[in-house]
Amino acid sequence: MKLNHKTIRWQTGSYEELPNDLRELVDMARHMREQAYAPYSHYHVGAAVRGLSGKIYGGANVEAVIYTGTTHAEQQACNTMALDSAVPKNQRCFTALACVAKHGGIPCGFCLQFALEFCADRNSLIVGVDVDTGKVTIASVENFCPLSVFDRDSLAETSGPA
Ligand SMILES: [Zn+2]
Repeated sequence: MKLNHKTIRWQTGSYEELPNDLRELVDMARHMREQAYAPYSHYHVGAAVRGLSGKIYGGANVEAVIYTGTTHAEQQACNTMALDSAVPKNQRCFTALACVAKHGGIPCGFCLQFALEFCADRNSLIVGVDVDTGKVTIASVENFCPLSVFDRDSLAETSGPA
């Protein structure tokens, strides 16, 4: 087997190059970042997801002095979408997720697991925005997470709430 470590599976660019629907999502993520509660790490993260219904849900990180109680911005956005009783349960999944933070704005591994859980499908998009440079990184969930620890769709048939 020959490993190809140079396969590029993501694109980079700028905010201005994004289509309007993704700019709107990034705008919400930027706004949410300003609401972050991060008095300990001072690492502020904002996120937004566009649900299959078209609605946008925002989230920001919320820290607790016991760090294990901290919630992540993408997690908050996905949780808000997952609990939106105004939307049918089968539409509580996202077609695009935006994350705005320092150091690239790429979701952490924990949040990528949330993305796998709540994406409409693996073609759903993840957009990371570096708040300092404005650099945008965009790829599908499939490209961010080609492998997962569990197969959501096969497990969902036998466990969890109906
Ligand atoms: Zn995270």
